[in-house]
Parts: sequence; C-alpha cells; structure tokens
Amino acid sequence: MAQEDVFKKIVSHCKEYGFVFPSSDIYDGLGAVYDYGQNGVELKNNIKQYWWQSMVLLHENIVGIDAAIFMHPTTWKASGHVDAFNDPLIDNRDSKKRYRADVLIEDQIAKYEEKINKEVAKAAKKFGDSFDEAKFRETNPRVLENQQKRDALHQRYSDAMNAGDLEALKQIILDEEIVCPISGTHNWTDVRQFNLMFKTEVGSTAEGTSTIYLRPETAQGIFVNYLNVQKTGRMKLPFGIAQIGKAFRNEIVARQFIFRMREFEQMEMQFFVKPGTELEWFEKWKQTRMGWHQALGFGAENYRFHDHEKLAHYANAASDVEFKMPFGFKEVEGIHSRTNFDLGQHAKYSGKKIEYFDPETNESYTPYVIETSIGVDRMFLSVMSHSYCEETLEGGESRVVLKLPPALAPVKLAVMPLVKKDGLPEKAHEIIRDLRFHFNCKYDEKDSIGKRYRRQDAVGTPFCVTVDYDSLKDNTVTLRYRDTMEQKRVRIEELRTLIEDEVSITSLLKKIM
Ligand code: ATP
Repeated sequence: MAQEDVFKKIVSHCKEYGFVFPSSDIYDGLGAVYDYGQNGVELKNNIKQYWWQSMVLLHENIVGIDAAIFMHPTTWKASGHVDAFNDPLIDNRDSKKRYRADVLIEDQIAKYEEKINKEVAKAAKKFGDSFDEAKFRETNPRVLENQQKRDALHQRYSDAMNAGDLEALKQIILDEEIVCPISGTHNWTDVRQFNLMFKTEVGSTAEGTSTIYLRPETAQGIFVNYLNVQKTGRMKLPFGIAQIGKAFRNEIVARQFIFRMREFEQMEMQFFVKPGTELEWFEKWKQTRMGWHQALGFGAENYRFHDHEKLAHYANAASDVEFKMPFGFKEVEGIHSRTNFDLGQHAKYSGKKIEYFDPETNESYTPYVIETSIGVDRMFLSVMSHSYCEETLEGGESRVVLKLPPALAPVKLAVMPLVKKDGLPEKAHEIIRDLRFHFNCKYDEKDSIGKRYRRQDAVGTPFCVTVDYDSLKDNTVTLRYRDTMEQKRVRIEELRTLIEDEVSITSLLKKIM
C-alpha cells in the first residue's frame, strides 16, 4: 500500500476508534487543533507516564514542575521569542494559499535527494550482488548532476536563512521554479516574517489590561523557576527539571494531522551543568533519549539523528531524533545545548542574580543547559504509525490490529462472557473487580466473540479473556494474545501474574536502564 494511503487510514482509524477527533467536530473542526478521545487519552497518558518516570523516577537528580501557561510578558522579550520566533511566509496570489518559504525550499532539496535515491535503487536492482553503491554515487553522471544541484541549493538556502535574508529566499524559490501545488503557478508575493506566538489580554478594564502570550514552549517556565527549585530542593549541579504541558504556536501551514498543531503538548527537560561540560552531557543525553525511543521495540532502523547545521542563536550544538513516519523521516524530539543564554537573559531582564554557587570550587557561575524536548502528539503519531497493521489471516479473512507496545495500550485486558446469561457476565465482572486495581480492564459482551476480538485488536488491547461454562466449574478462562492470536486455558488466579508485568510501564523502564 502506498505510504500516503497508510497515513490516510491511520487518520480515519484514529477517529473511528476514539483516539483523535478534529476539534469542535460538529462545527466542522478547527484548523490544526485536535481532541483526544476515550482511547487516545489513555494512550497519551501512558506515553507521558513513560517519559515522566524515565526522567523523574530513574534519575535522582531530576525533579519535575508544572508551571502556568501564562507568564510575565517580559519572559518572551528576554527569551528572544518576541523578536525572533518567526517563520518566513510567502503567499501564492492565484491560489491565495500561504506557505513557509523555508519548507518550500527544503521540499525542493528533498526532491533532488529523491532523484538520486531512485537512480541508486534502479542500478542496485539491475546489477544485483555486484553493485558497488559508493562507486556508482561517485561516477554516475545523473547522480553527480543532481548532487551538485542539491548541494548548491542547500548552500544558498543556508546562507539566506543564516543571514535572515528574505529577498534571497524569494529569489531561490523563483530560480528553482518552485510552483504552488494548488495553482501550479509562480505568482508569489514577497517573503515576510510571521511571529508564531498567540497573543491575548489579561485584566478586565480597558486601562488595566496588558498583552500576554500563550507560551510557545514549556522551557521558559523551567528557566524562570531555576532559582526556586535549586534553592528549595537543595539541588547540586548537574541536575534537571522536567515538565509536561501545553504549548501554542500559530503555525502557518497546518498539515499532517497531529504532526503540526497550533495547540500541542511538550515534554521538556532542562539539564543544568557546569560550563565546559555541556558537550559531553549533550552526547550523553542524545544516547539516553535514543535508548528511550528504541525501548519501544519499533526497530533501530526507523530512527536517526539529524544534527543541525544552522544553530539557533543561543545553541552551541543541536540534534533531532527523527522517526520514519508514513511521510518520511521527521523530527519527533530535539536535543539542544542552549549554553547559558536563557538564564543569562532572564538575569539581565529581571535584574536578579541567577547563578549557582559551586561548593567544590567556591565560585559562582551561570549554569549551561542541555535541553531534551519532545512533542507528545508527534510521539503519539509515531506510535500509531508504527503499530497500525492490516493482516490477512488463514482462510482469507483480514483484520486491522494496532500492535501497540502493551505498556502503552489504552486497555490491557478485555473480559468477555461467552453468552449474556447463566452467570457468565457476573463471573466476568468478578474478574474485572479483582484486576482493575492493577491495570485497565474492559468488559465487553456485545456481538460474537470473533467480532469482539476484532474490536479489541483495532484498539490494540494486548489480552482478551473469555469466560465460558467451564469457568464456572473450574475457575479457568481462555486467554488470547493479540499479536499471535494464540489462545490458552489458564487459571483465573494466574491472570494477574501473566499480564501485569507485560503491560506495566516498569517493564519498559527496565529496558532502558
Ligand atoms: P519544527 O521544525 O517541526 O517546526 P521545531 O524544531 O520548531 O519543530 P522545537 O521548537 O524544537 O520544534 O520543539 C520541540 C518538539 O515539540 C518538536 O520536536 C516536536 O515534537 C514538538 N512540536 C513543535 N512544534 C509542534 C507543533 N506545531 N505541533 C506538534 N508538535 C510540535
């Protein structure tokens, strides 16, 4: 199946099975805003729990906070967001559609890369085992030509972005003959900067109001609390502060479902270190975070690091963890070495001394910071994309199954009476009453057992239990495994031990230790 179709299926599956709905659906939705349904919220909470525990539970020197979304407006002046949190936008006059100029150019770079890869794949197929890819890339004229075009474009693009040169960006779009995908024309406006922060007012009277912003990242809530936490928690460097919370960005182009939203959730951890040690910590955190992703078992080949060439003004190193989504490798998490920029700026703007007194060296300094920043919603999408599976079974029947890591699955166990009478429902409820304190159980008695299994497969429930007449006599039930569909007879008392370990977040955490 084409990857585009897979993506469409995932989006409709999310809606059909109560994972993700368009916001205000009855009013036809709101662009780039989504609601999580009854299954989505469980999956999302499990992702957040996995992250939170991996930070706060597994590290003695990391603590959490929950800062407010509204912050003093000077925060955003100090952080640079008021002046520099911009995207370059461009409009097509014919279609009246708006684009990010940088994205249009990056897509063009990707087109050259695609051409090269196609050429390589074709030759690999033709020459089979004797194919020498490195040599082919160095000598094939078509590959060389596209590589040269790609590199030249990339250089021009980096120069224009680094210089903030909007005219140069437009010129690239014209020179490369990039057209609007809707109108197919080159009728572009000039490129303009667009600030991504949402503004609102606090205060009720006209004179007493002031403009504030909805936070575009959670990180600043951590920086402004650095002193509070360090002092009250008697924290010694190196130490980290973790936070999960909503962030808001007025994204110019809203597309790809929950990949790019205007209201989304971030899980961020700022790790404060002694100046000079930051690059070592940066490497450590890159590895730790990659370990966290890979413990989910989606296959190492589906992840890669993308080291930034163009660094934000405050950073001295940055890398993204990219995951292979149905629409290609995309950023899920950013790991940034932010130097002492943020704390330094807040010290300057607030007039407060924001430093650390190092008892070992008897000196005071502004700590350096390594940030790990991951979007809950993008993580959700990567989990969904990897887990969605259509299978043809023996006998030609098919099923849709979400092969979610059991620890993340919304429901861990579905308990089903074979029939709705003769005491079987009561027995099923009895099992749930015992087990629900340990993991999420669901009762299901409607339709045939086969249909009920399919329904649970579609939401990723790793275990189902069927209660039948024998269960009343010998206290045994049929336990069915989601992925293998294997069924076995087990004693009711054994259920907890058989299931609990596999579905617990602890089992995942142990894999990353
Ligand atoms: P992009 O380049 O895709 O816009 P970014 O580099 O601006 O992302 P960061 O500011 O580093 O993103 O934010 C950290 C993380 O927050 C990202 O890796 C992503 O998972 C998430 N994130 C950022 N913007 C959005 C958004 N609009 N919708 C959903 N998640 C987002």
